[in-house]
Amino acid sequence: MRRPLIAGNWKMNGSAALVEAFGKVFADAKLPADVDMVVIPPFPYLDAARHAFSNTPLRLGAQTLNPLHSGAHTGEVSGRMLKEFDVAYALVGHSERRQLYRETDEQVFERLMAALEVGMSPILCVGETLEERDAGHTMDVVLRQVGHVMARLEAAQRCEVIIAYEPVWAIGTGRTATPEQAQDVMAGIRAYQASFDTSLAEQLRLLYGGSMNANNAAELLAQPDIDGGLVGGASLKTDDFYAICQSA
Ligand code: PEP
Repeated sequence: MRRPLIAGNWKMNGSAALVEAFGKVFADAKLPADVDMVVIPPFPYLDAARHAFSNTPLRLGAQTLNPLHSGAHTGEVSGRMLKEFDVAYALVGHSERRQLYRETDEQVFERLMAALEVGMSPILCVGETLEERDAGHTMDVVLRQVGHVMARLEAAQRCEVIIAYEPVWAIGTGRTATPEQAQDVMAGIRAYQASFDTSLAEQLRLLYGGSMNANNAAELLAQPDIDGGLVGGASLKTDDFYAICQSA
């Protein structure tokens, strides 16, 4: 039985007031005990969130991390630093990082290794563009992104990785993949994982991301290979994120 996980990626949004609001709502909430819930705010809010969420089930994630521990890398943040703030998860390979900051599959691999090295669970984001889907290349693209990382990990490391399938055309567009489209890709990722080890494939947690909201979450999360969600826009509203966590 895979434990559901709902993660909210605030991107470059939010405020100290929003951190406080999440702390209040989630302290009162009657949330399912068997669901992992993660908020991924911008770096400056991590310390405040650590305190504000201390009486809630919310855990913290980072939106990215540098592969190195320290050094002359102005503007970068390392996994070791994030660990000091109880950050338990790290996104790697989000499509905005791949597209806007030109992160390559190799750089994604290095960041994922850095997360593993400090004991954080990496959430590897993969997904095709609309052009790639229309050209019939969805599975090739997704399995290339997954394979570049997974094929180089040892079995123990592979268990720690969470994969978020996020079709690029569904991110921030209000256009959600249908549950069937999402399920098809998830099943393909799990089958790929099974080519290494069938029991690890059964344990692999797969998240859907792309305009998930309080109205469509239940149907997506009901798919057999979807174990949770990576939520962008809807994670900025306490009530919406709460409702998505409830439906997991
Ligand atoms: C995301 O940023 O990972 C995401 C899925 O965004 P949205 O939910 O806004 O589409």
